[in-house]
Amino acid sequence: MKEILLVKYGEIILKGGNRSRFEKMLIENMSKALKNVAETRITVTQATVYVEVLDEDRIDIVLERLTKVFGIVTIVKACVCEKNIEAIENAAKEYLKGDLISGKRFKVEAKRSDKAFPLNSIEIAMEVGGFLDDNFEGLKVDVHNPEVTVKVEVRDSFAYIYCRENRVKGQGGMPQGTGGRATLLLSGGIDSPVAGHMMAKRGTVIEAVNFFSYPYTSERAKEKVIELASILAQYTSCVKLHIVPFTEIQLAIRDNCPEQHMTLLMRRFMMKIAEIIAEKNGSQALITGESAGQVASQTLAALAVTNAVVKMPVLRPLIGMDKTEIIERAEKIGTFETSILPYEDCCTVFTPKNPTTQPVISKIEKSEAHLDFDGLTKKAVEGTETLLIYPKK
Ligand code: ATP
Ligand code: MG
Repeated sequence: MKEILLVKYGEIILKGGNRSRFEKMLIENMSKALKNVAETRITVTQATVYVEVLDEDRIDIVLERLTKVFGIVTIVKACVCEKNIEAIENAAKEYLKGDLISGKRFKVEAKRSDKAFPLNSIEIAMEVGGFLDDNFEGLKVDVHNPEVTVKVEVRDSFAYIYCRENRVKGQGGMPQGTGGRATLLLSGGIDSPVAGHMMAKRGTVIEAVNFFSYPYTSERAKEKVIELASILAQYTSCVKLHIVPFTEIQLAIRDNCPEQHMTLLMRRFMMKIAEIIAEKNGSQALITGESAGQVASQTLAALAVTNAVVKMPVLRPLIGMDKTEIIERAEKIGTFETSILPYEDCCTVFTPKNPTTQPVISKIEKSEAHLDFDGLTKKAVEGTETLLIYPKK
């Protein structure tokens, strides 16, 4: 039997006049995601995207790939059949025989966009329901609390049949490219990849900046960040990753400033450098993985001090989340296993014993005045290496 994937999208529907632009972007992203996966034909009508997989035995791989495309709410395999009631009944009987098991409560829901079809939606549902009831032993019709909902959609050229319970959940969110561009400060930790994923989910194109302290952090720490970027790229198609040499700045802080200010001073440099790189690349905002109160540098007072060096909006999608919630998300998006690999991050190498938790900005600025902030920043930007990271296979 011929199968097809029916893809439903969510919030795009809310976009009124912009809807066609959002739809177009979604389809473009789907095509891009499937480019090296299988040959497909993608069309859209009435808030459903139809994905025909020409190489039919790759349909499950295509489905799996689409679960990572933002904007998609559900995906389901459906069977395609001729638009007449006998064909629909026979197709339903054959296609759903694995779902319509004896003892199950079921119902049929029908939708018809072709108003010329001789039966209306209610009549289709009653016809098909009656037919299935007659043809499967032990089924019980239950329209209020069914275990199996058979869906019949009669469209312009064909009818489609599937079982609602077989729908697979997509990422939700908005299509990539509809939400501007932002630069993620991507460490090797658990939090920042999750923060990047959350903004990408809102349609934002993500670039990443990583601060790297060779030789205090190893080549493997860098590979870990590249790996995290390649996991994010599974959702976004490609991530531009800027790797910034940070050792000189850290040594300058260590040698010239009070130890308890170390982390905050590093964070201010990071923000400023990220902002410069972001501006150069057309980003409109910065993203960090900060969560209120998680560590000394993430108290509200500390956040104010780091924020003060930049003009760009700083998005902190994890700000109100607990660590356990962040870990759950990291597991779900597939970054957790990589994030917990034990290679040093540039911050862990230079962590002070007693960092300030209630910093006063004037005192931090006084410490910073011992350094050539602009000179060090400029040099770090100049030494930045930029890589294009493609999705992890
Ligand atoms: P994470 O799990 O993201 O590393 P964390 O709890 O360890 O977070 P911090 O080390 O205080 O937090 O860093 C806070 C945020 O600063 C990170 O979420 C990230 O956005 C950014 N950041 C920290 N270290 C780096 C780095 N080496 N390169 C790029 N960004 C960094
Ligand atoms: Mg970190």
